[in-house]
Amino acid sequence: MPDATPQDLALLRRCFAAAEAARKAGNHPFAALLADETGAVLIEAGNAFGDTHDATAHAERLVATEASRRFGAERLRRCTLVTSAEPCAMCAGATYWAGIGRVVYGLSEHRLKEEIGPHPENLTLDLPCRTVFAAGQREVAVIGPLLEEEALVAHRGFWALP
Ligand SMILES: [Zn+2]
Repeated sequence: MPDATPQDLALLRRCFAAAEAARKAGNHPFAALLADETGAVLIEAGNAFGDTHDATAHAERLVATEASRRFGAERLRRCTLVTSAEPCAMCAGATYWAGIGRVVYGLSEHRLKEEIGPHPENLTLDLPCRTVFAAGQREVAVIGPLLEEEALVAHRGFWALP
C-alpha cells in the first residue's frame, strides 16, 4: 500500500478544520470530502446530526450519497474519500456502494472509541473499515490512520474528554 501523498495530508488537514467548523455549528466534530485524482475537492460535508437529528448523517455517508447522485462509477473509482476519522461500518458501506475507489482517514475508530468511551451519541463501532471493504467484491484502497493527534484536536472537550 503506497504512503499518503502530501496532497492527502493537505486534504486531511482541511477535513480537521471542517470538523472544528461542524462542531462550532452544533454538530459532531467530523468532516469528510471527495477529491479527484488532481486533488480538486468535488464535495465536502460536515456531520449533520445537530442540524437534522438524523443519526445516520455522518459526514462520509453524506459525501458518498451525494457522490453517487452526481457522478458515475467510472469517475468515482478514481476519486478519494478523505475523512477526519475512519469510516464506520455504515460509512464504509456507503463508500463501497457509491463506488469510491480510495479512502484516506485520520483518527482510527479504535482510537476514537478509546478516547471518548461509550458516549450515548457516539457508541463507536470498533470495526476497521478495511474489514468491511475486504468482504466486498470491488477493491477499495485505504490509507490511515494518519495525523491522529491533530485529528483529536476537534474532539477535545466535546465528548467530555479531559
Ligand atoms: Zn459513519
